Amino acid sequence: MALGEFDLIRRYFAHPAPPGSEPILGVGDDCALLGVPSGWELAVTVDTLVAGVHFFPDVDAESLGHKALAVNLSDLAAMAAEPRWATLALTLPQADDGWLGAFARGFFRLADAHGLALVGGDTTRGPLSITVQALGLVPRGSALRRDGACPGDVVCLSGPIGSAGLALKFRQGESVPISPEVLAALERPEPKVEFGLCLRGLASACIDISDGLAADLGHILDASGVGATVATERLPLADEVRRYLADSGDWSLPLAGGDDYQLCCTVPPERMDRLHGTLAALGLAVFPIGLIEAAVGLRVTRDGERLSLPTGGYDHFRHQ
Ligand code: ADP
Ligand code: MG
Repeated sequence: MALGEFDLIRRYFAHPAPPGSEPILGVGDDCALLGVPSGWELAVTVDTLVAGVHFFPDVDAESLGHKALAVNLSDLAAMAAEPRWATLALTLPQADDGWLGAFARGFFRLADAHGLALVGGDTTRGPLSITVQALGLVPRGSALRRDGACPGDVVCLSGPIGSAGLALKFRQGESVPISPEVLAALERPEPKVEFGLCLRGLASACIDISDGLAADLGHILDASGVGATVATERLPLADEVRRYLADSGDWSLPLAGGDDYQLCCTVPPERMDRLHGTLAALGLAVFPIGLIEAAVGLRVTRDGERLSLPTGGYDHFRHQ
């Protein structure tokens, strides 16, 4: 690399830690040192984005920096953890100044917005691949897991689904309704961190939707040993997705399209009013879409009629 590895790290990835997220020791030694306050648990997640698999190789670097962190913040949000720290493993074909500057801009804008500090990483040369590990804090015992859903709980979403899937069709050259908001759902997803924090003490289970509603809600159902019915007429959808559905009747888009990064949670009905109130105080909304039931399996209806389900979400080892 024309720019030395250590100069590159110093130039692009040494960035002041936001207040409250200062590590004991950050970038520059063999390990970062992090302090976990007593009474809290550390939530840890990692995701890799590979060029050609998770993003188009020519996607703009600023969006990529944003998305690489956003998908990890979404996992922290799904556990009701507060973002604190991240590490970044970057494999680059070459050290391109413009690319690195834009990538770092996208990454740190989102990191700063959520009070997250980059505390270490690894930088190597090779085919473009980005791995971010995010670490967050959650009060002991209050993380939202997948295994707590009970019959009678309300199935809820944090916002519209299907937009990222529609944007992907557009990027693949299909003629579909599109808007800047729909494209942003794919390229700059906003992780639902505040929504996740509002669920503490209220939701019985939660997951973020990376592989599609049917697949990800399916994980809650499997882990909890329950089933659910989802009413498609209650799904929050962007206008462009509604138009696409009216034209095509293709319900696999909102049900099995991935990459939306909304949260799907289950909430005991007597807590719904409190959840509405807590969210409304932050200008946020929650969308009830169905009910947890004792009979296992996911059922999907349209005005009371059963729809047949699109199969599965994205599976890297089945879609080869
Ligand atoms: P080591 O060889 O001990 O693993 P490295 O030479 O890989 O350390 O990295 C030197 C320092 O720079 C370490 O503190 C590491 O965490 C940090 N670092 C390396 N790459 C990145 C990156 N892309 N972003 C942030 N910190 C990085
Ligand atoms: Mg070392």
